Amino acid sequence: DIILSVRHLRKQYSATVAVDSVSFEVRRNEIVGLLGPNGAGKTTTINMILGVLEPSAGEIEIEGIALAKQRTRALARTNFAAVYAPLPGNMTVYQNLRFFGLIYDVAQLNARIETLLDQFELRRFRDTKCGVLSSGEQTRVSLAKALLNAPQLLLLDEPTASLDPATAQDIRRSIRDIATHGNGGILWTSHNMYEVQDVCDRVLFLSHGRILLEGNPKTLPGEHGVAS
Ligand code: ADP
Ligand code: ADP
Repeated sequence: DIILSVRHLRKQYSATVAVDSVSFEVRRNEIVGLLGPNGAGKTTTINMILGVLEPSAGEIEIEGIALAKQRTRALARTNFAAVYAPLPGNMTVYQNLRFFGLIYDVAQLNARIETLLDQFELRRFRDTKCGVLSSGEQTRVSLAKALLNAPQLLLLDEPTASLDPATAQDIRRSIRDIATHGNGGILWTSHNMYEVQDVCDRVLFLSHGRILLEGNPKTLPGEHGVAS
């Protein structure tokens, strides 16, 4: 059950080949880690999947439909969500979720917000401004926001980068739950091998725009072997 299919994806900036014939798939209920050092091509890959960057060559399909065709629809983001856009800090948790829910045109928005407040243990912060929340709490709001429209594909770009280890662990457990019980697949970028081993079902190791290794994170060469 393939959610995302990427085939021979390539992006060339004048002299630099940032992404070079990258192919992989993300299946339903699966977390795929995209691992690699700075400059490996992770952001370029994510931005092509988001549809904000035009590939030089290759194909991207979401649930069997070419991305180029989906982009012509009014609500191109229906299938995607990214957690990394910062939240407006002077709006409350509820106002933030309502604001993005209206943008995403979420059906039965109030009921959906209430469900997500419970799922992410945010009920007591419902009327708290996002700007005063801890970074772990803000990450939970961002995840709730990303799930408002129940996306088929969730793109997470370093979702735990700003968190202390214990909070990062909690967030990984939450995201693992989303993958296991949700209706979509997750692509997770990281440069942290330990994190990828902890949470991902499969890992792609990207270096200089190419996939060097692909496999079960538990059987990849140890953290000193591949992570920077
Ligand atoms: P990562 O996210 O893994 O750090 P990037 O996708 O940001 O890697 O970058 C991959 C390569 O492409 C790097 O060599 C980077 O310098 C280059 N690159 C990224 N964006 C541009 C751009 N807009 N113009 C030229 N080169 C770029
Ligand atoms: P930077 O300029 O440091 O790369 P940006 O704030 O421009 O940071 O965002 C980084 C990337 O995140 C952008 O290239 C864009 O593709 C993506 N992005 C930003 N906001 C959203 C959003 N609301 N939904 C999906 N992707 C987003």
